[in-house]
Amino acid sequence: MNRYEPVIGLECHVQLQTRSKAFSGASAAFGGAPNAYTDPYTLALPGTLPVLNRVAVEYALRMALATGCTIRRLSRFARKHYFYPDLPKGYQISQYDEPLAERGKVEFVLDGEVRSVRLTRIHMEEDAGKNTHVAGAPFSLIDLNRAGVPLIEVVSEPDIRSAKEAAEYLRALRQLVRYLGICDGNMEEGSLRCDANVSIRPVGSEKFGTRTELKNMNSFKHVQQAIDYEIVRQSQLLDAGERVVQETRLWDAERGSSHTMRSKEEAHDYRYFPEPDLPPLKIAEDEIERVNALLPELPIARRRRFIDRQGLSVYDATLLTAEREIAEYYDQVVAAGADAKKAANWVGSELLRELNREAKAIGDCPISPIALAELIGLVEEAIISGKIAKDVFAKMYGTGRGAREIVDAEGLVQVTDPSAIEAVCRKVIEANPKQVEKYRGGNDKLLGFFVGQVMKETGGKANPEIVNRLLKRLLS
Ligand code: ADP
Ligand code: MG
Repeated sequence: MNRYEPVIGLECHVQLQTRSKAFSGASAAFGGAPNAYTDPYTLALPGTLPVLNRVAVEYALRMALATGCTIRRLSRFARKHYFYPDLPKGYQISQYDEPLAERGKVEFVLDGEVRSVRLTRIHMEEDAGKNTHVAGAPFSLIDLNRAGVPLIEVVSEPDIRSAKEAAEYLRALRQLVRYLGICDGNMEEGSLRCDANVSIRPVGSEKFGTRTELKNMNSFKHVQQAIDYEIVRQSQLLDAGERVVQETRLWDAERGSSHTMRSKEEAHDYRYFPEPDLPPLKIAEDEIERVNALLPELPIARRRRFIDRQGLSVYDATLLTAEREIAEYYDQVVAAGADAKKAANWVGSELLRELNREAKAIGDCPISPIALAELIGLVEEAIISGKIAKDVFAKMYGTGRGAREIVDAEGLVQVTDPSAIEAVCRKVIEANPKQVEKYRGGNDKLLGFFVGQVMKETGGKANPEIVNRLLKRLLS
């Protein structure tokens, strides 16, 4: 199997979450009754003309700048022709030889190392509608709600070398478009779609082999499975002395295999020509600067900062930067004075667990970053124990009340007075003579039993370190 090296390049379509379509004012929302979001332009009625959506351009620019692309100051739209019922105009407005942006890169972590995949280009285009083939019926249904929704196509260089790497690249791309607020990255609903180009070559060879293009994978898992399947299929062909045919293949998730969809079309099949109804797209210098200045701190930079400057583990840094909102929440907890590592523990475990349990977004979290910082501070100052803090956290989450407020109202302040704790320890020792005997006979594990009893007696409020210290002394 590993006599061959896979070579993979991805073409990803990112639906831009603008309110209206790329070239008309019809709604670009997902769902809706079939054909509700159409207008004369979407329906390609004669005499209608395209008007470019300004926000779509801004979103495309965000992605281009975030991936370090060179922006063309003047790019052009082109017509790409094909005939299919979901494309009423008979052509898709896309960009061809003068795309908006070129030569960028997407960085991500693969097996603990930062990898970089070069981007060939990012161009703007419009989506097509949707055909539904009704089983057994002599007709098909057409829904044009999606027709004309703005897209960017992100084309990678063939830099990817495994199915797993392709999936990680795609995850990073999804994370990026979500950070940038330009797409929800929902692969099931199709707002993020990806075609994979796959070829193999003998290990050590520089020359690329013949590639096939895989379509119809609507989850990371399917992308990875489809590519792995294709690598095996091509390897078997070459081993049998046969050739790989350049073609487009469809992934069938149910069968776990792919089949030929069509032979690969060539650019000339599309009869590209410049879109005569749209002027060239000019991007001014100050527009680039404006969009650039508004970019958020990007995931890979944020992860680095969390590791290098906040001292977080790779695991925590990765977890806390998965979503921009979570990373920002965490930053705010630290800004409110909490210890960086403790804050990472609370946000990464307690808080995310609660939110996930209710499938709640962090924006709807009942505990504000300042309130969480206060709770962390109470533990830090030994006013409450870590164990009590968990109970307080649950109460904060359930009621939205502040940490100090709950601690005061319920008398949860930790007992740190050694003489008070010692009295309880003595009482517990007196009440359990058998255990004392066993402990003194060498059963060290029983210390935990005594600690537990003392904590029970004090309602969990005794400082555990002091309890441990005193018990050891009194039992020795
Ligand atoms: P097209 O537009 O016809 O699909 P492109 O030349 O634009 O063709 O390439 C599309 C994708 O295919 C790119 O992501 C590129 O990296 C990838 N690619 C090109 N050649 C190969 C190859 N031999 N093996 C794997 N991927 C390839
Ligand atoms: Mg292609």
